[in-house]
Amino acid sequence: MPLQKNQIITLSIERLSGDGSGVGHWEGEAVFVPGTAPGDVIRARIVKDCKRYAFGIVESIETASPDRIPVECPVAGPCGGCSLRHLSYQAELKAKEASVADAFRRIGGLDVPIQPILPSPEVDRYRNKVQYPVGRDKNGHLCIGFYAGRSHRIVPCEDCKLQPSVLNEIGRTLCSLLEQYGIQPYDEETGKGLVRHIFLRRGTHSGQIMVCLVCTRPKLPHADEMVERLCSQFADIATILINVNREKTNVILGLENHVLYGPGYIEDTLCQVPVQLGPLSFYQVNTPGAEQLYAVAAAYASPTPEDLLLDLYCGMGTIGLSMAGRCRELIGVEIIPEAIESAKTNAARMGAAIAAKSRFFCGDAGEAASRLAAEGLAPDIIVVDPPRKGCDQATLSAIVQMSPRRLVYVSCNPATAARDAAILAESGYQVEKVQPVDMFPRTGHVEAVIQLSKGEFTLKKVRIPFSLEGVDLSKLKKGATYQEIKDYVKEQTGLNVTPLYIAQVKQKCGIIERECYNKPKSENSKQPQCPPEKEKAIRDALKHFHMI
Ligand code: SAH
Repeated sequence: MPLQKNQIITLSIERLSGDGSGVGHWEGEAVFVPGTAPGDVIRARIVKDCKRYAFGIVESIETASPDRIPVECPVAGPCGGCSLRHLSYQAELKAKEASVADAFRRIGGLDVPIQPILPSPEVDRYRNKVQYPVGRDKNGHLCIGFYAGRSHRIVPCEDCKLQPSVLNEIGRTLCSLLEQYGIQPYDEETGKGLVRHIFLRRGTHSGQIMVCLVCTRPKLPHADEMVERLCSQFADIATILINVNREKTNVILGLENHVLYGPGYIEDTLCQVPVQLGPLSFYQVNTPGAEQLYAVAAAYASPTPEDLLLDLYCGMGTIGLSMAGRCRELIGVEIIPEAIESAKTNAARMGAAIAAKSRFFCGDAGEAASRLAAEGLAPDIIVVDPPRKGCDQATLSAIVQMSPRRLVYVSCNPATAARDAAILAESGYQVEKVQPVDMFPRTGHVEAVIQLSKGEFTLKKVRIPFSLEGVDLSKLKKGATYQEIKDYVKEQTGLNVTPLYIAQVKQKCGIIERECYNKPKSENSKQPQCPPEKEKAIRDALKHFHMI
């Protein structure tokens, strides 16, 4: 008999789900109840039944888990940000480690050793970024806080324990300045009002703070007075901006920024990689936690000075750049153009030697990796750090085709990591180690780093000369691969053309940025030159593929 809405059942909580809810079973059906702890026995009220699983809320706690601790936040329940604030940190770690192990066993079907989880260096106030929605409290005063779970109702919060105290203090000060100057908060229903969010960032190592007001218009009344008041009170504020978001949308940030004070970005370091952070940069929110995560990734990758490292989903390049000093060459791929620009800037700031060996391309990981694989790129090590949905099939196939000696998978979702690891395992990669890492204490999220190595039965790789320029990543969606061009020429003219000839013609046509970068200069003069009839055939192919 299926569970009914509002039915009250007694439930023993066995484990935590990925989002931090407790999970128990009722006649074989999994029931998810937020705010519970493994070891609790509760009376739960069913709020929704989805046949094979159901959702409930706590009606009463019959036996409290010994792992429960007092909740030291007045808004923990309604706010929903800290789904595990009622659990001791030790128990939280144990539950997270178990959830990673469970994913690899149950979803991946893999029997692999799971290392003991690495705790976050900081358990409270570890975040370097906060985005407070601005609204009105029940007395009509301006307030900042967080959205209640699955809603856009603001739960006012004066001192969030996940944020550094100074960010909470700046948020409160700015909120009272806005009220003082009669500035209207944005109303989602009517679309009226000016200020939507207060977005703050703090460089953990530099201490520099960015203040960004997300507004519906670029013009903020009394901006100069507010800038002055904020800067005189908070010496670490390095920049103040307005981000304009005019749309009726749940997306917090718009694309337009106006600098009111300072350079428009803050500086920090991550694993000694210098970074510049503006409002739109993706940056790990727990800096010491990320440094620990990347240290594991580097240990698992263990690059040598001979190695070519491919960093897929590289964001602003920090993982790859943190290892660049130890490898021959680094290639990063990322879909967000601004992140790629940041990666290039970060590499340049690391000095000429690192900049010269690092290249970053904007594109979809699957498309870029397929193209790189088709062109014969043979990275020794690949690092992937995909979003929660994991890697797509194209990316996984290309990885297998490129056949790196070692693959390091950095994951923010053990379920998709386990799924992808199983696919790679079927293709000859052995899952060597899985290291759970906690970067988000008090929440259900857990990261993991997975080390995969080539199985013994696969052939030893032969390094072939390879020109990235030929890959033409800037035209990922439009360009054809060397193989496609070669096949087309053969089909149309019966001529055989080599990748070298294609590269030479592409270069003449201005669609290759510079000389083949991984060949010694002296070799270039000895290269055979493409004969005129083949050049014409290749040009026709490039036209056919809309590349010129
Ligand atoms: N490695 C980086 C970023 C990891 S987050 C770091 O540690 O900072 C995942 C990244 O994947 C984001 O930067 C996101 O923009 C990027 N991304 C998402 N989908 C992608 C895709 N299809 N192809 C390439 N990059 C993608």
